[in-house]
Amino acid sequence: MKLYRIKKSNIDKNGKGLYATKYIKKGTKIIDYVGNIITIKQSDKNPKFNNKKPIYLFNLNDKYDLDGDVTWNTARLINHSCANNCDYEGKGLKIWVTAIKDIKKDEELTCDYGFSYDSDYKQFPCKCRSMNCVGYIVREGSRWRINKKFKKNNRINK
Ligand SMILES: [Zn+2]
Repeated sequence: MKLYRIKKSNIDKNGKGLYATKYIKKGTKIIDYVGNIITIKQSDKNPKFNNKKPIYLFNLNDKYDLDGDVTWNTARLINHSCANNCDYEGKGLKIWVTAIKDIKKDEELTCDYGFSYDSDYKQFPCKCRSMNCVGYIVREGSRWRINKKFKKNNRINK
């Protein structure tokens, strides 16, 4: 039995989300985050990653990114929350989603999208309705998931 099922999201009213099918203990690996491995050169050139829509792009290392914007990547349906119960983990060229809290049955699975605070942050309002919601999808990014636009700005600043 899978630990998740797809259902209309409580957070993204127009979209879907993943929900726990049973109690999930903290530390449990829930789902792989899959996609196409592309070179950083390719993602730099691809207009799809110009920050106008949710970005399913993970930086894997100096050379490669993972483009998770593919229909067979069920984990892309996981929504952002300011009080997320899951997080992305990665090793080598693999990324997966792990529970960082004990999760109750039927609870929506949420992650920290790790969008950095830059001039475009208002493009991504957050509707997670958690107690500590900051109103926008802004959080210090994990090492391997860097908002592309921010990465570019960062390069210029350095
Ligand atoms: Zn929020």
